Amino acid sequence: MHVHVPTSEWLCGCMGPYVDSVERYFGRRPEPTTIEDLISTYAELDLGGVLLGWDAERTTGRAPLDNEWLAGICARSQGRFVGFGSIDPLRPDAIERLQRLPALQLRGVKLHPTLQGFDPAADDLMPFFDAAAELGLIVLTHSGTSGVGSGEPGGQGLRIDLARPLLLDRIAARHPRMPIVLAHVGWPWHLETLAMALHKSNVYVDISGWKYRYLPDDVRREMSRRLSGQFLFGTDYPMFDPAEQLVEFDRLGLPEPVARRVLHDNADELLAGP
Ligand SMILES: [Zn+2]
Repeated sequence: MHVHVPTSEWLCGCMGPYVDSVERYFGRRPEPTTIEDLISTYAELDLGGVLLGWDAERTTGRAPLDNEWLAGICARSQGRFVGFGSIDPLRPDAIERLQRLPALQLRGVKLHPTLQGFDPAADDLMPFFDAAAELGLIVLTHSGTSGVGSGEPGGQGLRIDLARPLLLDRIAARHPRMPIVLAHVGWPWHLETLAMALHKSNVYVDISGWKYRYLPDDVRREMSRRLSGQFLFGTDYPMFDPAEQLVEFDRLGLPEPVARRVLHDNADELLAGP
């Protein structure tokens, strides 16, 4: 559910001055590779993925990933990757950009309130989310703290309070048919994430960005019980190695039907649409 484009366009272009903090936080330095490598790595593991765009130009001054380019990568992957474009919702032409995603076969929009510096619950954001719902898009948003900026003075100017899961509750209530994926479980506000997912069936949770053995107990319990239909496997590649993450996932020892749902079936149904 959560794959970043591991090429220099993202790692050096978008992420350049933030890679040191990411390395410190995750204990692994993501090195740029090629699209061919990305596709063959996933093919060898018989894995598919949701490939994510990036647009934090207004706040970071770094060039965004072009959504058309992202769509081209997904097309080249022959179905192995489905793309979610990224748009900074505070761009003056954000809604027009959003309207271009379906024609590019991009199924969702990836948001990052911390990097994009916006408050998802703000009144002036409502037209953006209304348009996303109207277009039938899936919203996937970063939630919880961030490896980006961590351990730096002032977190490199980035605000993690903007990525509190509960800020999306208003949107989830307003658009009951729009799926909202809260990425990375939302730690340290993972109880907000669980409460939202228990309360609203259109709220999903991706477990990317973790060595799964460290997932909080409350999260592990709900994943295998009441929320087994709303949890989604994800890696946050290239921050994590997908082969290692599959082994980690196995070690969670989830009941087989739950593991199959989280690994594959939930995402399959979500991406198939209503
Ligand atoms: Zn991510």
